[in-house]
Amino acid sequence: MEKIQVAKTASRGIAVAPVYYFQEPDLTPEMGQIPADEADAQAARFESAQDTVIEELSTLAEKHEIFAAHQEIAGDFMLREGVLTKIKSELKNAQQALEETIQEISAIFAGMDDEYMKERAADVKDVGKRLMAALKGVRLPDLGNMDQESIVAARDLYPSDTVKMNPEFVKGILTEEGGVTSHVSIMAKSMGIPTLVGVQGILAKLQDGVMVCMDAEKGSIVIDPDEDTRTQYLRKKEAYEKEREMLVQLRSCPAVTRAGKRISLCANVGNLEDIHHALPMNIDGVGLFRSEFLYMENSHFPTEEEQFQVYRQAAELVPQELTIRTLDIGGDKELPYFEFEKEENPFLGWRAIRISLEMKKMFKEQLRAILRASAFGHVRIMFPMIISMEELQEAKALVEECRKELCAEGIAFDEKIEVGMMIETPASVLLAEEFAKEADFFSIGTNDLTQYLLAVDRGNKKVADRYDFMHPAVLKAIGHVINAGHKEQIKVGMCGEMAGSPAAVPILLDMGLDEFSMSGGSIDYVRKLVLEFEN
Ligand code: PEP
Ligand code: MG
Repeated sequence: MEKIQVAKTASRGIAVAPVYYFQEPDLTPEMGQIPADEADAQAARFESAQDTVIEELSTLAEKHEIFAAHQEIAGDFMLREGVLTKIKSELKNAQQALEETIQEISAIFAGMDDEYMKERAADVKDVGKRLMAALKGVRLPDLGNMDQESIVAARDLYPSDTVKMNPEFVKGILTEEGGVTSHVSIMAKSMGIPTLVGVQGILAKLQDGVMVCMDAEKGSIVIDPDEDTRTQYLRKKEAYEKEREMLVQLRSCPAVTRAGKRISLCANVGNLEDIHHALPMNIDGVGLFRSEFLYMENSHFPTEEEQFQVYRQAAELVPQELTIRTLDIGGDKELPYFEFEKEENPFLGWRAIRISLEMKKMFKEQLRAILRASAFGHVRIMFPMIISMEELQEAKALVEECRKELCAEGIAFDEKIEVGMMIETPASVLLAEEFAKEADFFSIGTNDLTQYLLAVDRGNKKVADRYDFMHPAVLKAIGHVINAGHKEQIKVGMCGEMAGSPAAVPILLDMGLDEFSMSGGSIDYVRKLVLEFEN
């Protein structure tokens, strides 16, 4: 038995379960020539790996569309012939033959002019990884494949891993890297999964299957607990669940302070499932729909029609405001079908509105889809990462262009749709007064604002103790933005994780914040804090 204490918790809750050790195996191919009489055996090994992978993918295809496309690639004639020729004619071993064939095929796709075909290169590489794992006889971890209750332990988890998680089986998450506002933490919170991140050295202490107790309230972890400790954690879990039940009772109360000020309590969501999860919490709307998850969960850039279907369902589900943030990709969010150029500082690089304003065709497809959905509810458009008036005006001009197109096509949309922006860069804080004249609403994104104001990477464990949204500079910036917004009579909300922090909520209420939008897991508790607030 070993106890570990960590300072910061990412998503509250208590878990007791065995570990699912999430680690990519070494997939470096063995290179080398083979004697001619070994060629048939090597070919047979490849064919058997191919069969295994096709079967694996056919099961996965039932859960996610992307795997059906991968199944086709795995069984592709060109791939099979490429590998077999290299084995039989060039006498290369199966691993080398596979590696070279995958490189060749993905290079062909990457070199195509058509954007859709270009994107297939990443799929080919992904299938190559799966085939190599089967050839080497090693297991590729896949969070979508879990079928028993576990605590996932990983160096780090990317959003593309996390989207596959099923909360029915993932009872807790422990990672060595990552900060409390990295996207894994946000997603875990919205799924209500207890999570501790930045736990240095944890992986070396764990193996697959070892029992772990974790308290993501207090930041404690016990590896291989004795019977007493385990019972103690199970009791804590029960008490935590009781507290949650008490909070559920408060859901029917609108969020009004003791002095009678009505506060808007909204949810941050990434997909329709999150909306279904948040609706029973009696929310006042969705303050942040992270539309990028729709792009990340797909096998291609979703078309206008595909997006419209999702946004429309969302608008119909949420009777109050639904704030759709336009694509915020880049930083730590990648697309499985689009190769981003490697950048030294991705969070300071090609990200969010910068990509949208460059890939105008894609951006307009999204704007048209959002506008069309606005005919079915109270939809708002929000732009991420704005740093200049030119960007905001250019983005708004594209909205205008789409409105005109839809009018000409006779397609309905909400004529009065509000167009707002996130305040998540220091530039937007300093220019808040000017922006307030041009934007219909503000939403403060403290996750990024904190990292940019303090020059502290939100996902880097080495500086995690310096990442502090209660830093006086951040608080001062927030106060300034609220005042600037109110001077122009626009609403100021917050959709960074700070809006769900028990320590921050009374301060933000005092500053006059109008709307608190947060992961589903925090809403019940914040309602309690609002109800208890005096002013
Ligand atoms: C933020 O930066 O606070 C925010 C809400 O956006 P994201 O976390 O998606 O970057
Ligand atoms: Mg952000």
